[in-house]
Amino acid sequence: MRTSVYGLTYDELAAWLAERGHKKHRASRVWEGLYRQRAASFAEMADVNEECARLLGEHFFLRSMNEHTKQQSADGTVKFLFRLADGHLIETVLMRHKFGLSVCVTTQVGCNIGCSFCASGLLAKSRDLSAGEIVEQVMNVQFFLDRAGKGENVTHVVVMGIGEPFDNFANMSGFVRIVKHPKGLAIGPRHITVSTSGLADKIVEFADSDLQVNLALSLHAPNDELRTKIMKINRAIPLEKLMPAVDYYLERSNRKITLEYILLRDVNDRKEHAAELADLIGHRVKQVTVNLIPYNPVDEHSQYQRSEQESVRAFYDTLKKRGVNCTVRIEHGTDIDAACGQLRSKQMRNGTERERQIVG
Ligand code: SAH
Ligand code: SF4
Repeated sequence: MRTSVYGLTYDELAAWLAERGHKKHRASRVWEGLYRQRAASFAEMADVNEECARLLGEHFFLRSMNEHTKQQSADGTVKFLFRLADGHLIETVLMRHKFGLSVCVTTQVGCNIGCSFCASGLLAKSRDLSAGEIVEQVMNVQFFLDRAGKGENVTHVVVMGIGEPFDNFANMSGFVRIVKHPKGLAIGPRHITVSTSGLADKIVEFADSDLQVNLALSLHAPNDELRTKIMKINRAIPLEKLMPAVDYYLERSNRKITLEYILLRDVNDRKEHAAELADLIGHRVKQVTVNLIPYNPVDEHSQYQRSEQESVRAFYDTLKKRGVNCTVRIEHGTDIDAACGQLRSKQMRNGTERERQIVG
C-alpha cells in the first residue's frame, strides 16, 4: 500500500533510496521538489529523473486530503476543514501575526482527554493522524499562500489543533523532525510549539528527546480540586505528578515553558486564583510565561462564560506584581468559529447523517 511521502523524515527517505540503489543525495533533490518547488507530482520535480520519479510514485503519494470548507476572517485568519482519505474531517488554522504566519495543526481525529470546555473533546478519538497527515496540513496552507502569489511563507507552527499530541507521540515527533529540517520547510525550532494537557511521562520523554522545540502546558487551574473539575485528566495526573515533570523539562531542556490558562468567568478567574497560581509557579518564575487565554464559548459547554474585562486585568496585574511574566492571548478569527474543534463540531451538527457517521 502506498503511503504519504510527507511522512518520511529526510533520513528515512535517504535510507529508502539508498536501499534501492539510488545515491543518498537524491533525497535532497526530492525534498527540494517537495518543499521548495512544491511540485504536485514526482514527475514534475525539476531535479528528479524519470526512473526515480516512477519508483517513488509506485510507493508514495503526495496528496491524501482535500479541502472541505474554508472560512476567512476579517483579520486574515483562515480556518480550513480538510477531509481525510477515510472521510474524517479535521481542522487547520492559518494565523497572521506581526512576527509571521503561523499554522495550527491537528494531531488526532477527536480527543480522548475530554476537557470540559473544549469542542475537540466532545468526540472520542477515532484515530491518530500519521506524521504525513500532520505535515500535509502545513503544506496545504503553504499551497494556499502560493496560490495567492504574494510570496508568503509559513514561519511558525503550533501543535494546538484537535487532539492531544503527546497521545500520538511518535507521529508528533516525526512531524516536528520533518518541518524543522533545514532541507525542508526549515521552520526554526524556536518557531515550533507543542501544547499538552499534561501527560507527565510524555513531558519527560519530550525533555529527553532531541526535538528541542517549545512546550506549552494547558494548566488552566492553580490547584487540584479546580483543575480536576475543569480537566478530568487531572484525576489520573494530578499536580504532584505534573509539576516534577515540568521541573525535569526545565532542567533538562534549559528552555522556558508556557503555561496556558483559559479564563472562565467565576470559575478560575479570581484574584485569589492568580495569587495561588503565582505560589504554584514559585521558584520557577524566571522560566515560566503564563498565557492567559480568553475563553471561546462553545455551544455544548454553556456552563462556561468568558471572563469580564476587569477580571482579566486584575488577574494579569496580580501575576505581574508577583513578578510572573504574563501575556493575554490575542484572539484570531473570532468571527469564524475560531475555537479549536468548533468548525468541525458545527459542520457535523449541520451535516447529513451519513457525514456524521463518517466523522464520528
Ligand atoms: N490537547 C492539547 C493541544 C490542543 S488544545 C492541549 O490541551 O494542550 C490547544 C489549546 O486550546 C489548549 O490550551 C486548550 O486548553 C485550548 N482550548 C480548547 N478549547 C478552548 C476554548 N473553547 N477556548 C479557548 N481555548 C481553548
Ligand atoms: Fe483534548 Fe486539548 Fe481539547 Fe483537552 S483541550 S479535550 S486535551 S484537545
